Amino acid sequence: MPEGDTVWRAARRLDRALTGKVLTHTDFRVPQLATWDLSGATVVETISRGKHLLTRIQGDQPWTLHTHLKMEGSWRILAPGQKWPRPGHTARLVLETADAVAVGFQLGIVEVVAREAEAEVVGHLGPDLLGPDWDADEAVRRLREQPERPIKVALLDQSRLAGIGNIYADELCFVAGLAPTTPVAHVPDLRRMVGRAHQMLDLNRRRDVQSTTGDLARGRTFWVHGRGGHPCRRCGTTLVESMLGDPGRERVTSHCPTCQPLR
Ligand SMILES: [Zn+2]
Repeated sequence: MPEGDTVWRAARRLDRALTGKVLTHTDFRVPQLATWDLSGATVVETISRGKHLLTRIQGDQPWTLHTHLKMEGSWRILAPGQKWPRPGHTARLVLETADAVAVGFQLGIVEVVAREAEAEVVGHLGPDLLGPDWDADEAVRRLREQPERPIKVALLDQSRLAGIGNIYADELCFVAGLAPTTPVAHVPDLRRMVGRAHQMLDLNRRRDVQSTTGDLARGRTFWVHGRGGHPCRRCGTTLVESMLGDPGRERVTSHCPTCQPLR
């Protein structure tokens, strides 16, 4: 699942390609929106809120197009007539202007809401790590509301703070030297951990390769994520892979039992 910085970059690409442009054609390929047509409307902007994308469109009234990449989704910006990089049947939404075609493939959410109802789709989110109104103190406060929760699970909960996915959740636990199952109440410096989360996403939104180690070479970008069974880069201990998360939402988790003891 894409991390907040990936979604932020998708928002930037959409914003650059579409803002100020008139939609010449729209194609909603989701059953509940099949009859929608926003052609003739003008795109106002696209922003990200956590891992949600909001494309504001001025048509007969102010609309907001809400999309979410979920597991496999992506937005691609193409030139008119350019061959699509993925099969057409995986497209969920097509937005065309005179000089660009934006295609949303495998989007997990596609919905249109009135602009004033935006809060209904993103109002539940905690402070956005990459938002202009990022509020570390509020994120810490929300995390502390559930002191028994494993820290990794808490970091993934978008209602605590918004933007962390499975990669950064694993990496943040490693960098903090904490077992992913450590209860929030036992995290020695939650404020510092939240600060690192912000730093991690902020650094990575500016570059093409996501890295938490500082090394951008293929296969060397992460400390523990996706490396179960391989030796820890710091101490050589074999990294352990497990499933961790709320029931039904367990995620593959990797950690080093030596560098990340349970507190
Ligand atoms: Zn280690």
